[in-house]
Amino acid sequence: MTDPAQRLSPVYRDMPLTIFEQMSGLARATGAINLGQGFPDDPPPPALLAALAQASAEKSHQYPPMAGLPELRRAVAGFYARSQGLDLSPEGVIVTSGATEAVASAILAVVAPGDEVVLFSPAYDAYAPMVRRAGGVPVFVPLRPPHWQYDRTVIEAAISPRTRAIIVNDPLNPAGTVASADELAMLAQICIGHDLIAICDEVWENVRFDDRAHRSLLALPGMADRAIKIGSAGKIFGATGWKVGWLIAAPAMAAVLGRAHQFLTFTTPPMLQWAVAEGLDTPGIAEACTARWAQTRTVLLEGLASEGFALLASAATWFTCIDLAASGIALDDRTFSERAVYEAGVASIPLSALWEGDDSPDGIIRLCHCKPEAMLTDAVTRLARWRDQLLA
Ligand code: GLN
Repeated sequence: MTDPAQRLSPVYRDMPLTIFEQMSGLARATGAINLGQGFPDDPPPPALLAALAQASAEKSHQYPPMAGLPELRRAVAGFYARSQGLDLSPEGVIVTSGATEAVASAILAVVAPGDEVVLFSPAYDAYAPMVRRAGGVPVFVPLRPPHWQYDRTVIEAAISPRTRAIIVNDPLNPAGTVASADELAMLAQICIGHDLIAICDEVWENVRFDDRAHRSLLALPGMADRAIKIGSAGKIFGATGWKVGWLIAAPAMAAVLGRAHQFLTFTTPPMLQWAVAEGLDTPGIAEACTARWAQTRTVLLEGLASEGFALLASAATWFTCIDLAASGIALDDRTFSERAVYEAGVASIPLSALWEGDDSPDGIIRLCHCKPEAMLTDAVTRLARWRDQLLA
């Protein structure tokens, strides 16, 4: 008799673990400093923890409404009205168990078997597998370092009569770059011109270091009824384990998105929803998180630069990217990341792991900067010492 495990779907049987889990696992096993997977080491803001404790003591622990607590749906709409000038109705907000579940719900609700979906490389590694699981066909458009710009000709060449949707991650993980106003206008024109749904993963919207307000594709003329905006309390408040995210769309579309969400996680823990609502409603909490990350980001960027590491320009996210060749390191990114855990004691993410399609750049690694200053300084020293050994 065959092993029953062999009767499981080959999709997952033959799939590697995500690079984030691989690198965090190696970091845990070796005691390396983990600058791979993106998460802060500090706890979320005290006001949020107090709100969570209070909600846990005083509020219901039973299923909240499928689309989310009304208080959180209102708070999300209010937060975006204040921070991005968006005019959203709470009925257009569906609370999900993290942005990854929001991405999954959006893809399942949008993509029918045989549909093509335009994805960019590099990208968060959940998009393509979920498009395939929905029966869709991912079509990859490469973004090229060092600027990772959107090129209209290349995007239009990837679109066919079967293209249903495009997934845009702005600001862009892993690069940390932000689409310009012209690029956003071009993407909107393409969506409207080709009748595409835009799935907009904007989880990094508040993690910006260029003093500019985020501009959502959903806010561009003609996009309000064809864009699905995805956000994350984990990123806004540095609470990645809370897994509270949301989908935003025109109410009629949001109702359909909710149908996909109802058979994934159905609901999200209510005490976390209460706490996030309080956090979004209280001015200054989100801003203080970003200001704190700006400080630690400076420590990592200046430390790396002073040791001669060549950094790619970025303006957002918890990440910075290093050009290995320009930093005097003659290793491909995978080899660097795997060896650096053991030999330098620092975990990183190789960009090629977030790439599908041809011509992956193979000499760029990503480091996470939302960590305690001493840890960042230590990591820089370890990396510099190891690089010097490699050169010796
Ligand atoms: N978004 C996180 C990152 O880029 C990873 C999320 C995850 O581990 N699934 O590091």
